[in-house]
Amino acid sequence: MDEQQERLYRELIETAKEAALKTYSPYSSFPVGAAIVTSDGSLYSGCNIENRSFGLSICAERTAFAKAVSEGKREFKTVAIFSPKGKDCWPCGLCRQFMSEFGDQIEIVVEAKNGSLICRKLAEILPEHPQAPEKLRIKNA
Ligand SMILES: [Zn+2]
Repeated sequence: MDEQQERLYRELIETAKEAALKTYSPYSSFPVGAAIVTSDGSLYSGCNIENRSFGLSICAERTAFAKAVSEGKREFKTVAIFSPKGKDCWPCGLCRQFMSEFGDQIEIVVEAKNGSLICRKLAEILPEHPQAPEKLRIKNA
């Protein structure tokens, strides 16, 4: 990762840290924040939002994606994820699948235990994923 990438990734991690402060996680007490930069440079953040019916809980990454997609964004460059309770805060399987809807080349950035940043393409952490969405779409639907 070059200096410019490192600077962007650090900025995204800082935004994710701020987003984690807004968490609603009374059941797990595991706050998580996420920050996304789109291909046009727009920035969106999100936090995890839990529910007493656990299946209704939503992770920080999906919160941020929901905000971005509902604002018309479809192309994503980088997603940073942070929790003050645990480094190496990689997205859960459900979020990996969710994000893959928008491309498997999205960069995922987390902070390692030693404070360094780790960046992986979504395709690396969701190998052998289902067909690309464009192959599943019905023409003229
Ligand atoms: Zn998740």
